[in-house]
Amino acid sequence: MEHVFKGTTIALVQGDITTVEADAIVNAANSSLMGGGGVDGAIHRKGGPTILDECRDYVAAHGSLPTGEAMITTGGDLPASHVIHTVGPVYQGGKHGEFVKLERAYTQSLLLAKEHGLKTVAFPSISTGAYRFPIDEAAYVALNTLKRVIAEHEGAFDRLSMVLFSQADFDVYAATFDEVITTMMG
Ligand code: ADP
Repeated sequence: MEHVFKGTTIALVQGDITTVEADAIVNAANSSLMGGGGVDGAIHRKGGPTILDECRDYVAAHGSLPTGEAMITTGGDLPASHVIHTVGPVYQGGKHGEFVKLERAYTQSLLLAKEHGLKTVAFPSISTGAYRFPIDEAAYVALNTLKRVIAEHEGAFDRLSMVLFSQADFDVYAATFDEVITTMMG
């Protein structure tokens, strides 16, 4: 499922993000940057030890990565050239700034990609696993943020994709995609 908006293709894909060829894939990391479960574990397992080494160097120099911020490493053994690590919020009922923090995780990842001249970027569904963000609301934040950043940085990106691990997650994003992306003007 895809749609071209202001010259950038926005795509929804069902699959495993560690198999995606892109200038960057995004990791739903935690602040320690030392790996974890879910997509984080999968990326480090497939990407090999150099990614963790780079994360360790980053933490030694800058400290842990705050929620909503992003940093970049190479892609190690992954087909993707780079990994952008960002930290989504833990969902605590929705009244603790979770929506703004989730939006910021997507935005900061894209700004970092732009800074590095990376034109194709694939995201997992940040915060909707162990961090328990309701997926329908997370889909709305994710897709609206991609759309806003594309409009604010026209020409910066060729292809931005959301890679959903399960068919159920894909279906939720697909419904939101129709509402937020396919039917929009311009
Ligand atoms: P968080 O801690 O941000 O919630 P998780 O990794 O627990 O991160 O979950 C985020 C999303 O990533 C979940 O929807 C989960 O199904 C998905 N996920 C897990 N493994 C992969 C993978 N290999 N590729 C794409 N998405 C994945």
